[in-house]
Amino acid sequence: MKTLHKRVLVTGGAGFLGSRLCARLVAEDCEVICVDNFYTATKDNVSQLLGHPHFELMRHDITFPLYVEVDEIYNLACPASPIHYQFDPVQTTKTSVHGAINMLGLAKRTKARIMQASTSEVYGDPECHPQTETYWGRVNPIGPRACYDEGKRCAETLFFDYHRQHRLEIKVARIFNTYGPGMHPNDGRVVSNFIVQALKGEPITLYGDGSQTRSFCFVDDMIEGFVRLMASPAEITGPINLGNPIELSMRQLAERIRELTGSRSELVYRPLPQDDPTQRQPDITRARELLGWEPRVPLDEGLKQTIFYFEGLLSRGLA
Ligand code: NAD
Ligand code: UDP
Ligand code: UDP
Repeated sequence: MKTLHKRVLVTGGAGFLGSRLCARLVAEDCEVICVDNFYTATKDNVSQLLGHPHFELMRHDITFPLYVEVDEIYNLACPASPIHYQFDPVQTTKTSVHGAINMLGLAKRTKARIMQASTSEVYGDPECHPQTETYWGRVNPIGPRACYDEGKRCAETLFFDYHRQHRLEIKVARIFNTYGPGMHPNDGRVVSNFIVQALKGEPITLYGDGSQTRSFCFVDDMIEGFVRLMASPAEITGPINLGNPIELSMRQLAERIRELTGSRSELVYRPLPQDDPTQRQPDITRARELLGWEPRVPLDEGLKQTIFYFEGLLSRGLA
C-alpha cells in the first residue's frame, strides 16, 4: 500500500546517535524503521518511541541481508567507542564492510538515498591540522584501532564505488567526537567517563599526560547536520566533516567538568592507549558552505545538559 510518509531506515537506531535521530525523524512525520542487534545498546534509548504508530524496532544484524522497502537509509550501525569496537574486532570490521555492502545493496534495489556515518578516525593520527576532507589520513592498518578505522575507510570506498558504478545517491558524513544525553555510562568514552567519575567523586582518569586534543560536538547539532546532509542536492556526496571546531585538551576537559559538577575528584594519570591520536579538530568549511550548517550549542551548555542526564541515571542506580 502506498504511504504518504517518507520511509526511513536507521541502522544502529537504538544507539546514542541513532536513537536521537529516530526521535527527530518520527517528530517530522517520517515512518521510521530502527534496526539494531543490541550489540552496544538496549531498548532503553528508544523506549519512548515504542508503540508510536510511525516507529518500528527490528532486531537485526546488518552483516546479514535485509529486505525492507524504504526511501532513505542512515547507516549508523557500528560500535563507536574504543572498548566496544576492540572487544570483537573481527565483528567490527564485518559490521562496517559487510554491513555497508548489504545496506548499499538495499539502497540499490529500492533506489533509496543512503548516508554513511563515517568518522574522523579515517584521518588516523593526523599530520594535517585541522583536518580537511581532502586529507587522506594516517592510519595504522594493523593496530588495535584498525578494525574500526580501516572498516570505516573501506565502507567509504564501497559508498563511492556504488555511487560511480550503480549511480546510487550517497552521502558520507565524517563525524567528529560527539557527546550528550543518551551516551552509555560505561562505554569508556571520555565525556561519559569524566562526568560519571566527577559525579561519583572518584578520580578522573586522564590517559597519557592529558595534552591530546579533541573537539566535541553536542548531539543535537550533529543530528541537524545529518538531516541537512540527507536533504542536500544529489551532487553533494561528501565526504563532509561534521563536528565542532572548538578544540581542547583532555586536561582542560577534565577541569571544565570538575568545575561544572562542583566535584572535588582528583586527576589521575593512566597509560595512553596505543595509536591514540594526539590532536583532532575538524575543518567544517564544506559543511558551512554546502549545508549552511555549524554547531550552535556551546560546550558548557552541552556539558550541563549531559551532566543533568547522568545525574538522572545515577539517581536511578543506572550508572
Ligand atoms: P553506539 O554504540 O551508541 O551505537 C551504535 C549502534 O549500532 C548500537 O545500538 C549497536 O547495538 C548497533 N550495532 C552495532 N553493530 C551492529 C550490527 N552489526 N547490526 C546492527 N546494529 C549494530 O554509537 P554512536 O555513538 O551512536 O555511533 C553511531 C555511529 O556514528 C557509528 O557508526 C559510529 O561509528 C559513528 N560515529 C560516532 C561518533 C561519536 O562520537 N559518537 C564519532 C564518529 C563516528
Ligand atoms: N541486499 C540486501 N537487501 C536488498 C538487496 C540486497 O541486504 O534489498 C544485499 C544482498 O545480500 C547482497 C548485497 O546486498 O549481497 C549487495 O547487493 P548487490 O545488489 O550490490 O550485489 P549482489 O546481489 O549482486 O551480490
Ligand atoms: N581519554 C581519557 N580518559 C578516559 C577516556 C578517554 O583521557 O577516561 C582520552 C583518550 O585517550 C582520547 C580522548 O580521551 O585521547 C578521547 O577518547 P574517546 O575514547 O572518547 O574517543 P576517541 O579516542 O575515539 O576520540
